[in-house]
Amino acid sequence: MMDNWNIHLMEWHFEDTIQWRRHLHMNPELSYQEKETSAFIAQKLLEFGIDVKTGIGGYGVVGTIYNGEGPIVALRADMDALPIQDEKACEYRSTVMDVMHACGHDGHVASLLSAARLLNQHRDKWKGELRFIFQPAEEVSPGGAQAMIKEGVLKGVDAIYGVHLWAPLKLGQIATREGAMMAAVDDFNLTIYGRGGHGGIPNACIDTVVIGAAIVQQLQSIVSRNVSPLEPAVITVGSIQAGSTQNVIADRAVLKGTIRSFNPEVRELLRARLETMVEHMCAMYGATFQLDYKVGYPAVVNPAAEAARVERVVRETFGEEYVAATEMMMPAEDFSYYLNEIPGCFVFVGAGNDEGAKYPHHHPRFDIEEQAMLHASKLLIALALDVLSSGNIVIKK
Ligand SMILES: [Zn+2]
Ligand SMILES: [Zn+2]
Repeated sequence: MMDNWNIHLMEWHFEDTIQWRRHLHMNPELSYQEKETSAFIAQKLLEFGIDVKTGIGGYGVVGTIYNGEGPIVALRADMDALPIQDEKACEYRSTVMDVMHACGHDGHVASLLSAARLLNQHRDKWKGELRFIFQPAEEVSPGGAQAMIKEGVLKGVDAIYGVHLWAPLKLGQIATREGAMMAAVDDFNLTIYGRGGHGGIPNACIDTVVIGAAIVQQLQSIVSRNVSPLEPAVITVGSIQAGSTQNVIADRAVLKGTIRSFNPEVRELLRARLETMVEHMCAMYGATFQLDYKVGYPAVVNPAAEAARVERVVRETFGEEYVAATEMMMPAEDFSYYLNEIPGCFVFVGAGNDEGAKYPHHHPRFDIEEQAMLHASKLLIALALDVLSSGNIVIKK
């Protein structure tokens, strides 16, 4: 075990972190289109003197510091924005029409860049290898994580950590959870084909409105009758479209839905029961169908030992008052793919306040309390040092 780091806040140059975040906030790019964001990240890493690889799984960027024999730790930030018009009034609001960093991924990039710079400046204080994974396309499945893993970014890595700046959590709170934390999300698109005709002569038709309605009703029994009451699960049919007027029987109906779960077995069960029900209900009414089942991200599941490490590191680095808890939640995150491969943990860093940063994620007025980026960087550094057995970080004002 080495000594703790004593870093003066001045040395952190937090004003750079804010400037980088605001630059990205003003210049957001959608999932799979993060060309300039990726170039910005690569340029910063090069300026710091860190080895850079670009074009990893799309616009992914990986910075590597090899610093002798030792464990390999990966730290991940996502970088994509959302198709939302920025309605904030501040000077750093998005300059791109209908595109906005409404999830805080700009802050993730800035926080990880700051952590990388500091860890690189203090190579004398640790041994091993650090890999900084800047991932594109988190918001839209299939997502950037899978693509980057396929290109080998986790090769030899002992542990991976990722943070999400989280506005529902107040600044000064850091939360994680042992086991399932964020849901697995699958979507489906069902088209029912019947036989249209006169609304007064139903016997000559196969009415897809009746069939669609029956299927919506029947699907409700999957969660209530097939899934264990002790397991969370949701099936929502969010859209039904059929027909256009009152006296014509619709020859087709389109149902769209989303399915959320935590346990992989429950996830399988939901899919299998849905497929069986659709098939049999359509057969019962004499209709045919096409079911497109889109498998999305698996659930984010933090191993117990890593969740415990995060809690301990938060306590040691920030103090007991920072340790917060989080419930399981139904949004998804493709950080799950990394955790399916190697140990690690996903953590929420409180970024909410009562002023600008009080709107939910994906809201047109979404913002973060920027001080949270200091917590995010500090936490990522502290977690890396903990795995590398290189002491802890102490920031002096
Ligand atoms: Zn998001
Ligand atoms: Zn996000």
